[in-house]
Amino acid sequence: MTVPPGSIIGIIGGGQLGRMLGVAAAQLGYKCHIFDPAEHPPAADVAAFATRAAYDDADALRRFAASVDVATYEFENLPVAPLDAIGAKLRPGTRSLAVAQDRAVEKIFIEKCGARVAGWRPVDSLDDVRAAVSQLGLPIVLKTRRFGYDGKGQAWIRSEVDVEAAWSAIRETPAVAEAGVDFTAEFSVIVARWGDGRHAFWDSPENGHRDGILHLSTVPAGAAIRAQVPEARTAALRIAETLGHVGVMTVEFFASPAGPLVNEIAPRVHNSGHWTIEGAATSQFEQHIRAICDLPPGTTDLVSRGAEMENLIGDDIARWPELVAEAGVHLHIYGKGEARPGRKMGHVTRLVR
Ligand code: AMP
Repeated sequence: MTVPPGSIIGIIGGGQLGRMLGVAAAQLGYKCHIFDPAEHPPAADVAAFATRAAYDDADALRRFAASVDVATYEFENLPVAPLDAIGAKLRPGTRSLAVAQDRAVEKIFIEKCGARVAGWRPVDSLDDVRAAVSQLGLPIVLKTRRFGYDGKGQAWIRSEVDVEAAWSAIRETPAVAEAGVDFTAEFSVIVARWGDGRHAFWDSPENGHRDGILHLSTVPAGAAIRAQVPEARTAALRIAETLGHVGVMTVEFFASPAGPLVNEIAPRVHNSGHWTIEGAATSQFEQHIRAICDLPPGTTDLVSRGAEMENLIGDDIARWPELVAEAGVHLHIYGKGEARPGRKMGHVTRLVR
């Protein structure tokens, strides 16, 4: 059912993704209500309403649900059960969250959808880790099943002597052991899906990471990636359809010699799609609003020959005076407080004319 402009969109999570969703929603005439436990979430600066409450506060979620016409989320480490209080107003639904927030559940699901992942084993003990090393070979990376992001909750095992240190580095938490992929490049498929199955892709960006955190996203991607995009799109769409996902979903891939391997699913708008704000006819943020409000899909073509998005992480934000003075650059500052190491403070996009 169409949620018309003038309605109120609830956004659970008030980080930079919520902030950019809020700007896109406002352009289409919606008002946003942010739900976040923080005192000054960046998204609240651009929203009509904000609730400060814990993500597992079912009463607060119920009041929030009653105050909005449709609700969505921009953060995936939400406790799932309390979201039942929101019911059918929540788009995408909780299934997308439940699958994406546990790396073991996610990998089983991806394989069920016919897509490929790197060799992996669930590990719950040091003995499991040792068994995984002998079955998968080296190197492998341990990733906690839950609450890992931007390389957090991960430890590499490059030789047998690293096993114990890696297991203790992830605090002996239930994890997956994943074979190290000798990838050519990394890329993502960003897709928006409507409840009736309509969908739209953007050009797939090539993603470069620094210290496990996205640093650069570039479109168009190189030839090695472009050759793998058709198979990757088929996989991403099958994942979105099987989840019954409504809204934007991002699937991160390794372009490996054996073809595209799924790294992970983000059931939401994604950092590797920020370039779409200026680089595509419809941004991922506007498209997400269109999909959850059941407005027609916008076109997703590039508006120039290409685009490059660079994240401003930690102290990078101190470069803002030179960036804001650079001709043609699109500077985004997220309005966060302290520039801690590893914290995403803003980004810039440069179009290739
Ligand atoms: P993740 O948090 O799982 O997205 O991992 C962050 C980054 O670490 C990825 O984007 C890769 O650059 C690297 N990485 C993660 N898993 C693997 C793997 N199995 N093989 C090689 N590199 C990996």
